[in-house]
Amino acid sequence: MSNGDSRRNVVIIGAGIIGCTTAYYLTRHPAFLQSKSTLTLIEASAHGAAQGASGKAGGLVAKWAYPKELVNVSFNEHVKLANEHNGKERWDWRFVSTGSWEGRGDSELSAGRSGTTLTREKSLEKTLGLDGGRKAKSNRKLKGLPDDLLWVKENLTQSYSSMAPEGATAQVHPYLFTTSMLDLAKEKGAEFKSGSVTAIIKSGVKVTGVEYVEAGQSTKTQTLAATDVIVCAGAWSPTLLPGLPIVGTRAHSVVIRTAPSAPIAPYVLFTEITGTGNGVVTPEIYARPDGTVYACGPGDDSPLPDNVDDVVVDTVACESLVKNVTAISEELRAGTVDVRQACFLPVSSVGGGPIVGEATKVAKGLFIATGHTCWGISNAPGTAKAMAELVMEGSIRCADLKKLHPSKFL
Ligand SMILES: Cc1cc2nc3c(=O)[nH]c(=O)nc-3n(C[C@H](O)[C@H](O)[C@H](O)COP(=O)(O)OP(=O)(O)OC[C@H]3O[C@@H](n4cnc5c(N)ncnc54)[C@H](O)[C@@H]3O)c2cc1C
Repeated sequence: MSNGDSRRNVVIIGAGIIGCTTAYYLTRHPAFLQSKSTLTLIEASAHGAAQGASGKAGGLVAKWAYPKELVNVSFNEHVKLANEHNGKERWDWRFVSTGSWEGRGDSELSAGRSGTTLTREKSLEKTLGLDGGRKAKSNRKLKGLPDDLLWVKENLTQSYSSMAPEGATAQVHPYLFTTSMLDLAKEKGAEFKSGSVTAIIKSGVKVTGVEYVEAGQSTKTQTLAATDVIVCAGAWSPTLLPGLPIVGTRAHSVVIRTAPSAPIAPYVLFTEITGTGNGVVTPEIYARPDGTVYACGPGDDSPLPDNVDDVVVDTVACESLVKNVTAISEELRAGTVDVRQACFLPVSSVGGGPIVGEATKVAKGLFIATGHTCWGISNAPGTAKAMAELVMEGSIRCADLKKLHPSKFL
């Protein structure tokens, strides 16, 4: 089936990284441009795009991410996007070293309070894609800290091992990447609307539009006609498509601004820290080019609020995170905590995922791109390219995504 020559009115629900990057690829698809199609991206937050996980993630882009079908397309697309749009300046793109660090925290050194979240802790599972998982590192040759990794304390280090060869891991600033994708899509005609979609409208077997409530107008429902609707609503996707096996896992993160006099070498560290009074803790720590360091903790079972703007930040969880990461680094301890935040990552409750494709069982013209777990930043370009091909050409050319088809999940 080819839909390349007909005019389309596409509505994307959700301006996270998946929605915004899909808008970017769609508005650059030749058939979209030729047919003078329209695209509206609608977002429930009153504060614009990237207010959820997509603005609050670490930003690692890795060849070890999963599923492979998406990684194979996405990594190269990240490189291309960065080259084409000066990602280095625009969204802090750079290649980065990743290492597994194990050691003791110095509780004398650390700032912040001990404590854990009240609900059960869950791993973000980012190291699952490594051969044999993270524990395989014990079989690898362990060595001392790299010469330029000066921002963790050598005397507290028990082991360090590199997790990926040079060129296999990179990073973006997730908020800047997502909002750049939106801005670039707008340059090609995409329209951004602030509102919350309340229902997907069908006529017979075909999608015809969405019902939404404009931001600030709490009850008045309006209609937006569409030939194609793409659900990119992250952890909120099941509120639009009941039965979709997606759940939200809340995770906290902090951003620490370091002193300009203490340059922080470009490393992402997956840590295992003991001795901070919090048991064994495993924060991920990301040096960023702007002089800040991002750190995130484990996930928990906190319930998903109705709107992304209502996510509750547990200050104890943030303080605990600060305590853990400052216990291994004088540079972090000397810094100031700029941001304490939380967000929900969308996870498939039946395993596998993400879910990417046309949900023909529900309606023709209804597409789903959600459930990217801990790898949505990495896998956004591949997902978006596939969605643009699917919507405009009727099939996906860039990858074989059969395993991710909505029929396997709904
Ligand atoms: C702590 C943490 C660290 C992470 N680190 C990384 C990393 O280093 N690398 C990586 O690849 N991934 C990482 N991730 C995962 C990544 O952040 C997510 O997979 C990704 O952001 C999901 O993007 P999304 O667009 O699907 O969802 P979201 O970012 O949640 O966006 C969904 C949007 O849809 C909107 N929405 C919902 N319902 C409606 C509605 N009815 N109407 C209108 N709009 C609606 C929401 O308001 C929201 O803005 C991390 C996640 C967490 C939590």
